Amino acid sequence: YRVLGLETSCDETAAAVVAASRDDCGLGGGQILAQALVSQLEEHRPYGGVVPEIAARSHLDHLDRLVTRALRDSGVALRDLDAIAVTGGPGLIGGVLVGVMTAKALAFAAERPFIAVNHLEAHALSVRLPGGVAFPYLLVLASGGHCQLLAVEGVGACRRLGTTIDDAAGEAFDKAAKMLGLGHPGGPAVERRARAGDPRRFALPRPLVGRPGCDLSFSGLKTALRQTVERLDGPPSEQDIDDLCAAYQSAIADCLADRARVAARLFAERHGAGHPLVVAGGVAANQHLRDRLQEVAVANAMTFAAPPLALCTDNAAMVAWTGIERLRLGLTDTLDFRPRPRWPLDPEAAPARGRGR
Ligand code: ATP
Ligand code: MG
Ligand code: FE
Repeated sequence: YRVLGLETSCDETAAAVVAASRDDCGLGGGQILAQALVSQLEEHRPYGGVVPEIAARSHLDHLDRLVTRALRDSGVALRDLDAIAVTGGPGLIGGVLVGVMTAKALAFAAERPFIAVNHLEAHALSVRLPGGVAFPYLLVLASGGHCQLLAVEGVGACRRLGTTIDDAAGEAFDKAAKMLGLGHPGGPAVERRARAGDPRRFALPRPLVGRPGCDLSFSGLKTALRQTVERLDGPPSEQDIDDLCAAYQSAIADCLADRARVAARLFAERHGAGHPLVVAGGVAANQHLRDRLQEVAVANAMTFAAPPLALCTDNAAMVAWTGIERLRLGLTDTLDFRPRPRWPLDPEAAPARGRGR
């Protein structure tokens, strides 16, 4: 199979062509033939966050060119594709519309199947693109708009074990970075500053840690950070910022590790031992978090897997890959698909109390 994937749900405009064999031996595995991505970081920087209208306009300006480039670099002609996949939600609706309309037009023109991909499922399956990860696995999905623990039992089969009751992990990183004047997006900046910091100098809380269940909460942590900054005499020094970042990053990782430990027990009750623990989504790029979750995996007789860094943050290769996984099962969509600003991965789970996206 050769599938074109498009991603426009937030502030990355991306197109990619991914190839994989028709039958899958259960472990996943595909090749990225070409990838083209434009990040809108600079366009949103003056506003300290993503501005939906600017994002939608920018996707419109860039997408055609990126599709042309990805197809050219892949050496695959439009009519030789097996399907066109696109993020159909959840996300900023203006951007999702641009991607979905473009994908529908391409699918219609090329007379190829159209596949609407759930962006969260794309994050969830991204770890299978390099290959070597079989279902079921326990997933820590930590991104800019979501933070959930899921049992990934197959394509279209995710069971939610826990979710944040307020902010997402990426959002927590972003808000802290804004507070400390480190710009947007915050995760990479906080990670960089934390490397030179002492995580023990400032004490921050670990919300919900030790409590039953696998839900998460980050808003109290953000408040505690603000209070810690206010208690300093004067504006934070460079060393203060390094230490605050280290403390904050380690608090977030501790929370996720603790909840993953609880989830690992629930997961094992149903699926037995020896399955992978996976972390995916933008925050999965964080090395400290990867290290902490790897420890949880080892302690629970699980293997550990995470996508390569470029597949953690938003990209079109994971969308094309999810298209391939769905195409194999005959799961295509019709051209009357309507973009979904909200689209829970596990429709059975109660809606999260937090904002989510
Ligand atoms: P969603 O996937 O929930 O719709 P999104 O697509 O905006 O949201 P992603 O692109 O998956 O989110 O992830 C972006 C988030 O990841 C941002 O909040 C960013 O700060 C965070 N992030 C990126 N790199 C790192 C890192 N190295 N450490 C921690 N957080 C990071
Ligand atoms: Mg982004
Ligand atoms: Fe994302």
